[in-house]
Amino acid sequence: MKVIEVRNISFRYRNTEEYALKNVSFSVEKGELVGIIGPSGSGKSTLCLTLNGIIPQSITGRFSGEILITNPQTGENMNTVLTPVPKLSTVVGLVLQNPESQLFNMTVEDEVAFALENLGLPRDEIEKRIGWALRIVGLEDKKEEFPPNLSGGEKQRLAIACVLAMKTPILVLDEPTSELDPKGKKDVLGIIKKLKGKGFTILMSEHDSNFLFKNADKILVMNGGSVVFQGTPKEISDKIDELIELGVRVPKSLLVSKKLGLPPAFTPSELLSLLKARRD
Ligand code: ADP
Repeated sequence: MKVIEVRNISFRYRNTEEYALKNVSFSVEKGELVGIIGPSGSGKSTLCLTLNGIIPQSITGRFSGEILITNPQTGENMNTVLTPVPKLSTVVGLVLQNPESQLFNMTVEDEVAFALENLGLPRDEIEKRIGWALRIVGLEDKKEEFPPNLSGGEKQRLAIACVLAMKTPILVLDEPTSELDPKGKKDVLGIIKKLKGKGFTILMSEHDSNFLFKNADKILVMNGGSVVFQGTPKEISDKIDELIELGVRVPKSLLVSKKLGLPPAFTPSELLSLLKARRD
């Protein structure tokens, strides 16, 4: 079942000359993890902002093409230009690159409750969802903390919990690990993997492509506002020279396997097995 269908969209921010997105088309099936990679300024954040209607409804400019979102739970179709952002946001949850911009309550618990109170849910349902979302991201012991006192990784996990608590079946994460130290990064990527296992449909942009080559069902490669390649990690790995030229960081094991004329290895352990098999 297709849950996101992006049909030939282009977008130019107000007062700019250059289009930030140019004729972008792709679709996402229910339960897929789709990665967006590409150099800085290639349009990854802009694309994320189109998916719940913020572009062009709140951030205006010249928008053409069409994005259709299907709620996998009800089958309802929504056009991101015609359906108001608050309604789209009940289906597509967006986690922005900088979590600080999304956190402004006095405690971790209040932060998660805030979005839910706006949905008008009963108190016991709110409590249940707060507990559930904080457990998934591993912050259940930090309920009373003041969000600005959390580490970078914890803030990002809290931003994810806020979106999770809304129970949107589609999650869009814009470079969720870009500001994090290695531990924070590992934790957040672990959560994303867990969410994929739970059946969420996830679209995420990421500068470091290691995780996506290993876990994504499909990868979109962006450059200059266009999707220049799209396909499975295996298909994209055939374009490794082009990716390096674009300045995209590709997994080391992939580089080595390609240099040695082996099939693509997405992790060091896969590379080792391939080397062992060749020796035997
Ligand atoms: P990425 O996420 O890949 O770094 P962006 O989507 O942030 O790329 O940017 C794509 C292009 O749009 C860039 O040329 C950038 O300068 C421009 N851009 C991004 N945000 C704005 C904005 N709010 N106003 C005007 N131009 C913008």
